[in-house]
Amino acid sequence: MPLSSHPITTRVLFVAGSMRSGSTLIGRALGGLPGFVDVGEVHWFWEHCVNPVARCGCGMNLRGCVFWGQVVLDLERDNVDLEQVASDARTLLRTRSLGRVWLRRIAPGPSHKWSVLLRASELLFASIESRSHGAVIVDSSKLLPHFTLLREMTDVDLRVLHLVRDGRAVAHSWQKRQRSPFLTMLIWMIQNCLMELASRRLPYRSRVLYEVFADRPVKAVQRVLGELELTPHVLEGPLTDIALPPTHGIGGSSRARFSGETAEIALDDEWRTNLAPVTRAALTLIGMPLLKRYGYRLWH
Ligand SMILES: [Zn+2]
Repeated sequence: MPLSSHPITTRVLFVAGSMRSGSTLIGRALGGLPGFVDVGEVHWFWEHCVNPVARCGCGMNLRGCVFWGQVVLDLERDNVDLEQVASDARTLLRTRSLGRVWLRRIAPGPSHKWSVLLRASELLFASIESRSHGAVIVDSSKLLPHFTLLREMTDVDLRVLHLVRDGRAVAHSWQKRQRSPFLTMLIWMIQNCLMELASRRLPYRSRVLYEVFADRPVKAVQRVLGELELTPHVLEGPLTDIALPPTHGIGGSSRARFSGETAEIALDDEWRTNLAPVTRAALTLIGMPLLKRYGYRLWH
């Protein structure tokens, strides 16, 4: 049956939040549960289709991967122009395009390209759903334009996990990549505020702090799945362990994606000692409203 006549509602668990918040690890943890599949940052799919060097979590490129290779064939059977969609996704699925995406109904803009991308993405998720035998799809894309795309898809049951990591830790992580920690803190605040705004009307949403997840992953995952009403029916008794099995996830942190079964859920808090005191104090002042909202200690 062609995907275009696929009638089943696809369940998607979207991991929202800012970059470098631990979403690759939490995606792998959730994707390791019975009835779930971790696909990583799906917004990268189109780019990976046309880039033979880009690798899946299994180490293969998309066409060579046993999972994504079938998905690519499904889309080609449905006459999806992968080159064209990759080009449209490159333009539209970027944070800087969010204004154009949100305003496209009232201002001249990318309506046609958006429609093409939307239809192709519906077929993509229908194929993932089919190839994973109806599993809940864990998509850790985080990007707001991609979230908007998911919200507009037909036959998608969308649930949101808002993952938050202390903005000072995120700023320290980006500082190691030569980005200003103050700019990072501002972006962290904007992204988290916009995510709360964009998802406020969804019936199923939950929030977890990365620090809480790293400290007690079983308890954190139990609570999140309960709030999202996604607790696996096949579990016999309570959840007792969280594993990080290898996945076919794409994008995200290379260290967390390609580390196989050696990956660990660990709290990285070296920012507490490595950030200069003045920088740390300034970051705390800038981020104070949201740091307080999420329950972080401000000064020690
Ligand atoms: Zn793979």
